[in-house]
Amino acid sequence: MQNIVVLTGGVGGARFLEGMRAAHPDTQITAIVNTADDLWVFGVRVCPDLDSVMYTLGGGIDPERRWGRQDETWNARGELERYGEPEAWFGLGDRDLATHLVRSDRLRRGATLSQVTDELCERWRPGIRLVPMTDDEVATRLVVDTPEGESDVHFQEYWIRYRAQVPIRSLRYEGIESAAPAPGVIEAVEGADVIVVAPSNPIVSIAPILAVPGMRELLRTAAAPVVGVSPIIAGGHVRGMADQLLGGLGLEVSAAGVAEFHGARSGGGVLDGWLVDTADAGTVSRIESAGIAARAVPLYMSDDDTTRALAEDALELARPLAGER
Ligand code: GDP
Ligand code: CA
Repeated sequence: MQNIVVLTGGVGGARFLEGMRAAHPDTQITAIVNTADDLWVFGVRVCPDLDSVMYTLGGGIDPERRWGRQDETWNARGELERYGEPEAWFGLGDRDLATHLVRSDRLRRGATLSQVTDELCERWRPGIRLVPMTDDEVATRLVVDTPEGESDVHFQEYWIRYRAQVPIRSLRYEGIESAAPAPGVIEAVEGADVIVVAPSNPIVSIAPILAVPGMRELLRTAAAPVVGVSPIIAGGHVRGMADQLLGGLGLEVSAAGVAEFHGARSGGGVLDGWLVDTADAGTVSRIESAGIAARAVPLYMSDDDTTRALAEDALELARPLAGER
């Protein structure tokens, strides 16, 4: 195996990528990272998922929060709050802020997001290739019912400010129609030996990547098998608030439900295989009857060894599927 491609969001995907890197240190691993969570706040461009992956694999992540920088201080945010700034709900740590300042400066001078990402990775040396899904600006936005009435908000505002606790009327990926895959995305997928959908949020991490024009077709026609790992275990998310989002959109919050949401490649979707947790072993036959090879293995990435074993399990599931295509 020479080329592993992983579609990923932030926290869950970053952890999975750590396992993949540990399992295959000498293999080229390319992460195609969701950028629909990105936003401009206080004039800086923040890329939560790219940064989560970069900091995690670069050894700079806060181990408790699992986002942002270790040994973080919050002086800038405190000062912004004292100015009564309405956007101070968005937690910008002092160390983290430097990343956003460098990124924004380069973007304003005409660099693309993928160029800046390469540059930031020169410091962090994540040991894998990080490619944004697109260099174009895309934003997941939701129309929600807030206590103050109906409101059109950026995903980050829904997630952080409203803690995913307000009813959702609709969700869209603004700007996606005119977005193009970033340089390297198409080449990575075409050259992949295996394509893995990380245990990331299906709605706001994986679906936006698939919604970039051309991506779905690219995956559907790729020579490599596409296998995924469920972010849902026993009917709930593991960390974060993914079940609020799935449930809020009226989707089934289960490992099988997410597999059906992504769909079988043989039936117009993108998956050849899907891993569910041993707690969900009872749903394997349902997933297989949808045309997706399924296996039940431990999915909880509680320590480095199980995370690494999970990465191996994903590749193991893919191996026989490679021949079928
Ligand atoms: P975000 O962009 O930071 O929200 O991160 P991701 O989209 O990459 O990942 C969030 C998802 O990861 C959530 O739906 C969690 O349920 C899932 N997740 C977190 N930890 C684990 C784990 O140990 N095992 C599995 N299978 N999923 C996990
Ligand atoms: Ca995210």
